[in-house]
Amino acid sequence: MIQYRINIIAMSIQITQFCYCLISISFAFLCFSCACKAANYTGTEWIEAREIMVDQLRAYRIKDEKILAAMGKVKRHLFIPAQLKPSPSYAYGDHPHPIGFDQTISQPYIVAYMTERLELKPGEKVLEIGTGSGYQAAILAELGTTVYSIEIIPLLADHARKILKAEKHESVKVMTGDGYKGWPEYAPFDVIIVTCAPDDVPQALIDQLKEGGRMIIPVGSGFQRLDILRKKEGKILRTNDIPVRFVPMVHGMTTSTNSPVKGK
Ligand code: SAH
Repeated sequence: MIQYRINIIAMSIQITQFCYCLISISFAFLCFSCACKAANYTGTEWIEAREIMVDQLRAYRIKDEKILAAMGKVKRHLFIPAQLKPSPSYAYGDHPHPIGFDQTISQPYIVAYMTERLELKPGEKVLEIGTGSGYQAAILAELGTTVYSIEIIPLLADHARKILKAEKHESVKVMTGDGYKGWPEYAPFDVIIVTCAPDDVPQALIDQLKEGGRMIIPVGSGFQRLDILRKKEGKILRTNDIPVRFVPMVHGMTTSTNSPVKGK
């Protein structure tokens, strides 16, 4: 009787081990197929994901057809480092996407909204603070502006430069540096867009804004608000816009290499 019970217990242990083994093999297979799939999405899958994103932007009341066309054209997924294995639905979903170094590309709606509020005209000179992936810069360039973009993390700046060049956005210049200083060499700017949040509007950026120029900038720590500034007869007219959430605008250069993203 005892021997019979021992046999039953031994058999159930074997069955459990077999089940675990099966589950592990299936999980490994699933991971493997996901990894293969990440590298193998078809052109059509990316195009469809972009179309869905643009439809959603329309539904969210982005009205400027030129901005919608630019967002339908620029390949957002290429700006996400390949090591992060972007998928069509996640790369074009309406949320921020990681790009390494604890930084993100802003969600498509915020990119479109900020761009729309700038009322850009072709030929204008734009300063962007916070190049990140280079995606926002590519959208600005697609609208016919010349873009000067500053990024404080050198490897992100390198990655953005590489993809902007590969995608032929020749009117974007990227500098590795501290956006608090602006880019005096090319000032004044018609438009300044800041995509990281300082506690207050940096004076250098106000100084580098052209007479009649516009600036859009998230301000505050934790709770932030988009501010829109206009320079009229040397004075700044400032209006509060929607609440937002951006990464902080940091002080000083960083040498962090804590990221899967490698530079050139
Ligand atoms: N516009 C980007 C997203 C910006 S995320 C895109 O389209 O992908 C914010 C970026 O601001 C991060 O890459 C961060 O490193 C950068 N940043 C933070 N503080 C900065 C500063 N003082 N000067 C320049 N860039 C800064």
